[in-house]
Amino acid sequence: MSNNVKKPHVSAQTIVGHIPPRLKLAQLPTPLQPLDRLSQQLGGPRIWIKRDDLTGSVLSGNKVRKLEFNLAQALAEGCDTIITCGGLQSNHCRATALLCAQLGLQCHLVLRGAEVDIPDGNLLLDRLAGAHISYFQAAQYQRELDDILAGIQTSYRDQNKKAFIIPTGASDAIGVWGYVEACAELKQDFIHHNISPKHIICATGSGGTQAGLTAGVHRYGVNAQVWGVNVCDDEAWFIKKVNRDLKDWIQRYQTGTDLESLSVKVIDGYVGAGYALAGKHIFDCIAEVASSEGIILDPVYTAKAFYGMLDQLKKGRFGDSGDIVFIHTGGVFGMFPQREQFEF
Ligand SMILES: *Cc1c(COP(=O)(O)O)cnc(C)c1O
Repeated sequence: MSNNVKKPHVSAQTIVGHIPPRLKLAQLPTPLQPLDRLSQQLGGPRIWIKRDDLTGSVLSGNKVRKLEFNLAQALAEGCDTIITCGGLQSNHCRATALLCAQLGLQCHLVLRGAEVDIPDGNLLLDRLAGAHISYFQAAQYQRELDDILAGIQTSYRDQNKKAFIIPTGASDAIGVWGYVEACAELKQDFIHHNISPKHIICATGSGGTQAGLTAGVHRYGVNAQVWGVNVCDDEAWFIKKVNRDLKDWIQRYQTGTDLESLSVKVIDGYVGAGYALAGKHIFDCIAEVASSEGIILDPVYTAKAFYGMLDQLKKGRFGDSGDIVFIHTGGVFGMFPQREQFEF
């Protein structure tokens, strides 16, 4: 995608530290709150939660922070249509569809899965937002995604429209900015609460949130290790993907960051049966956190990561005192289509 973008005629030197165009779309800053009952119960470090599930009502979650940059870039390039992709219950696609409606842009979603008669969860919101949707079976989607996206972009060009492609999860050099800048916010949160957390934990699914946080703590001098708990694939895949996004970000924006100085760390072992497939312990974890703290996690991302964090905490990975921060990346609408998995 970066080859569509005209490079500014300035030397690298003048754009060091340059922040790209940004729209104000998320409700920021989001609260940082201690989970007192849960922390006390576990008797280890104090757990804080960054409420990025509160970045909006239907915009809930991490994607809106990234889309502030991806959509600003699309507008800067004079695009009138956005094409993006994901699973049937993609939070990213839902946020994109709603933001396109808000900005007066056309939205075309490429979804993995079969069309259903009665849409639920995120898909219902996609439909309400008026997104055009193309459905592809998993095998074809995996094999041909780039060609499918490019083909749709060409078909818009033939209609004299200019379409901008946002990749899976808005995890690319542009979207990385969302969580780089979230670190400036976290730094203020830490000053406000007078804490110095040594660990920041998030769910990682397409890598952009983890990449942004990893670069952001370095950029803003936050002395904490960022950990991504993967919800699909494995550690090796995410180390590679996050490093690629970081490399693209450094190159595209000439940030002057030394890639070697960034510490990309993944906690593997909590995927379960596969992406969006969760076991009973995950649904139990959702119910436990909901009833003890009034916070709703989702079975695809945040509950797997939260469960993984608690398990690692019990095993001593984060030490036995101090503060740790979990980034609540949203996902509430993905819970409803899995309602049958809860036992009451
Ligand atoms: C997309 C998503 C993530 C993962 O973020 P990535 O930047 O794609 O790794 C985590 N939680 C929720 C709720 C999400 O929708």
